[in-house]
Amino acid sequence: SEKLDLIVQKIRPFPDFPTAGVVFRDICPLLKDPKALAAVTDLFEEHVRQKHPEVRLIVGLDARGFLFGPLLAQRLGIGFALVRKKGKLPGPTVSVAYSLEYGAAEAEIQEDAVEPGQKVLLIDDLLATGGTLYAACELMKKQQAEVLGCLVVIELKDLKGAERLKSCPVFSLVQY
Ligand code: IMP
Repeated sequence: SEKLDLIVQKIRPFPDFPTAGVVFRDICPLLKDPKALAAVTDLFEEHVRQKHPEVRLIVGLDARGFLFGPLLAQRLGIGFALVRKKGKLPGPTVSVAYSLEYGAAEAEIQEDAVEPGQKVLLIDDLLATGGTLYAACELMKKQQAEVLGCLVVIELKDLKGAERLKSCPVFSLVQY
């Protein structure tokens, strides 16, 4: 579609970042172009209205999930909550540890951010191995929220993240 073309044109590849052999997909040009950014929100909104009209909360992942999530939540007329890296959120929180390519990390959410049984969608900029979104799913489980699916702008197919998240359908706009 025309909107998708607009988006694809604004994703910039950076070979050998952050390490040799990795192609980093940079979404900064996409944020800089209001038409392309609106196209992202349009396509997410269309998908959610068709497939998940029952969604009650958008949950965004630190940090680039925070760029797309609130725009979508506003369109849908629902709220937005943050999953952050450990130590950033005040008050009572719940957290899960997960492993990264190099080392480990912890994802955290405020205890009152989601309600038991609440229907949520997770959002991030990019799906690689799926480790990050998997950890967020675990957090949602701890909070007894119902994860309807995951939304990402970009999916790196070779890394099989969608398989890792098999209990939770992934919707991506652009695939490499
Ligand atoms: P995963 O946990 O392996 O799926 O990695 C996904 C996370 O790493 C997301 O939060 C992304 O923001 C980040 N990430 C990994 N590769 C890239 C990239 O090429 N561009 C932008 N973000 C990336």
